[in-house]
Amino acid sequence: MNRLLNERKDLIETLRSKGIRNERVLKALGKVERQLFVLPPFARKAYEDTALPIASGQTISQPYTVAFMTEQLDPKSDGKILEIGTGSGYQAAVLAELGCRVFTIERHMELHLQSRKLLEQLGYRVASKCGDGTVGWTEFSPYDGIIVTAAAPQVPDPLISQLADGGRLVIPVGDTETQDLRVITKTGETLEQRDVHGFKFVPLIGKMGWER
Ligand code: SAM
Repeated sequence: MNRLLNERKDLIETLRSKGIRNERVLKALGKVERQLFVLPPFARKAYEDTALPIASGQTISQPYTVAFMTEQLDPKSDGKILEIGTGSGYQAAVLAELGCRVFTIERHMELHLQSRKLLEQLGYRVASKCGDGTVGWTEFSPYDGIIVTAAAPQVPDPLISQLADGGRLVIPVGDTETQDLRVITKTGETLEQRDVHGFKFVPLIGKMGWER
């Protein structure tokens, strides 16, 4: 138990040394037990700063990527956040630790069911569904923030429409090999956009993403 706690603390120091500055984000990552979100054979690698395989041929993102994207999203406590690509549920748990009201969509039923069960067991307040997240989740829109954890060929229009005034969308955009992280802030009808870093994500597959 102590070993895991120490490994988690070391990971937070690694993230800090790689440039993550937001203490709220670091604290949230320091609370989530990543070993519970990975496949059992990879549990001993849970606190390495690396992406790891999860069910359905997908991956749990590298902790640095989770921290960086969350820092860019900069969610307020109690903000309403939509995540596209639930995967293991780890990013959703980090957002819940930040006090956000989290809505998350996953296209693979296996991952949706597993992550829902785990998040419930851990007591995280997260609403989830299985479906194509490229069209968003209109029922609960608008969102203060939308975070997409798979790579899109372009920004899906429905996600822009479902952003609240002052809301922010964080999404990797590019080809299937490398992407830039696009950060879009909506103010009235105006969209302010900046691109940061080179990243590598699994593809966003769906109506407004890559084709199956
Ligand atoms: N946020 C995840 C975590 O914390 O484990 C990382 C997930 S992985 C990098 C990206 C996920 O996006 C995969 O589980 C994949 O199945 C999912 N995905 C891809 N296209 C999707 C879509 N159109 N709608 C919902 N989920 C999608």
